Amino acid sequence: MELHIVTLFPGMFPGPFGGSILKRAQEKGLIDISIHGLRQFGLGRHQVVDDYPFGGGPGMVMRPEPWFAAVEAVRQAVAQEGRDPSTLPVVLLTPQGRLLRHQVARELAAKPGLILLCGHYEGVDERVRLHLAEDEISIGDYVLTGGELPAMVLVEAVVRLLPGVLGAAEGAWEDSLSSGLLEGPQYTRPREFRGWDTPEILLSGDHALVAQWRRQQALRRTRERRPDLLEGVELSRQDKKLLETNL
Ligand code: SAM
Repeated sequence: MELHIVTLFPGMFPGPFGGSILKRAQEKGLIDISIHGLRQFGLGRHQVVDDYPFGGGPGMVMRPEPWFAAVEAVRQAVAQEGRDPSTLPVVLLTPQGRLLRHQVARELAAKPGLILLCGHYEGVDERVRLHLAEDEISIGDYVLTGGELPAMVLVEAVVRLLPGVLGAAEGAWEDSLSSGLLEGPQYTRPREFRGWDTPEILLSGDHALVAQWRRQQALRRTRERRPDLLEGVELSRQDKKLLETNL
């Protein structure tokens, strides 16, 4: 998957992209990340990228020209390398976008690539949203200073879904998340810590029973903390029984 990120602050990315899963995915050639500084597409000698809002009001709005020039440059480079730039949707990070949920990450992970636009200041000129962005994503109902952290969150959420990115052990964890439920509790050594015990079932060696218990815990935890998620899951007869009984 090829990921292009257009940002005023390219220096924010090497740290988060230089470790753990994102580093490994790049080393394995599963993803190719390019960071494009927006400033180089700024206007005039001072490479201006923002201006006062028409109609007045506080702060600065990002002008449209640098965004269009940056995306056109990315598309041109992609085409010159023999790939079809129209297969890479332009995604604007904005608190007004659709929420980044697991299913949205799945949908984006199925694309051959993405061009991510990180806004700043009071946001971007509406014409960027209307005529350049093909999708708008928010990472949550709060406002951050810029789209850089949201872009990093989106990249991490999408890349870990790509085949081959997670190891076998991590993959199993992913499977349980994709079931639409919250995970149940996890325990490791020591078996007893400061008087707090590990549930006996986990130590029983009975794999079928452990699987049932985990499913039950996931169902109950989801019902308790995120009943909205449960509404989107089709519960089997066994699930309904697990919700009502004690193992
Ligand atoms: N005035 C804008 C509004 O009300 O929609 C918010 C601008 S915000 C201070 C600056 C930039 O940060 C946005 O253009 C966007 O790229 C990014 N941003 C802030 N919060 C975000 C969120 N929850 N999800 C995605 N991007 C966000």
